[in-house]
Amino acid sequence: MLIRHRPHGIVVAIDGPSGAGKSTVARLLAERLGYIQIDTGAMYRAAAFLLADGGIELSDLAGVEEFCRDLEIRFELFEGQKLVFANNRNVTDLIRTPEMSLLTSRTSALKPVRSALLKAQQRMGDQGGVVLEGRDIGTVVFPDAEVKFFLTASVEERARRRFEELVAKGETVTLEETVSDVAERDRQDSERAIAPLRQADDAVPIDSSFSGIDDVVQAMYAHCQLKLSAREQ
Ligand code: C5P
Repeated sequence: MLIRHRPHGIVVAIDGPSGAGKSTVARLLAERLGYIQIDTGAMYRAAAFLLADGGIELSDLAGVEEFCRDLEIRFELFEGQKLVFANNRNVTDLIRTPEMSLLTSRTSALKPVRSALLKAQQRMGDQGGVVLEGRDIGTVVFPDAEVKFFLTASVEERARRRFEELVAKGETVTLEETVSDVAERDRQDSERAIAPLRQADDAVPIDSSFSGIDDVVQAMYAHCQLKLSAREQ
């Protein structure tokens, strides 16, 4: 395999289903490594939001493709908070509703959307020094990532966490609805034809059902350190 020179460090891929805790562990791991965290789910959410807001039907593939040609997504740090901008519009809070989660899962199955975001993510991570989290990072976006994790937890546990997050944000949802949404997203994300959610053969599986965040991050950090020291020898 071609060994890439990444001047800023290694690429760390964290994949897994929704609600497994990827965002939190990716953020903490990136902080410890001094790396940049890239939340690729936020990019798919931002694309889904703009498409819906622009009234573009998902069945209109030509329209979706044209829209994707000019799509520009970027992250900005403001007062310690990571903001998501899509075509210069701040969509940070707009993309986090349960409706947007399900819509994103449908939108992310479309080829033009995946192609546009794949290129953007590869550009963002190409120099290394990044922790990318998503569904297809270790399998498609960076199949040569130096470190790959597959983070999972039971459906019930993931739904419980998501439910608590939504309630804390003032959303009116029931636990049953959240379990059904999470299961539906799992199904859509794993069964789609392009870049389905799948554990890479060389990924380290981590089940977060019964572990605290700190233990998971510590295990990941130790694994990254091993890879980094092997790389220096
Ligand atoms: O990670 P998050 O739950 O924010 O992702 C939202 C949706 O974006 C997922 O359900 C999935 O459909 C899509 N996604 C994807 N590939 C990625 C990251 C997210 O298809 N790398």
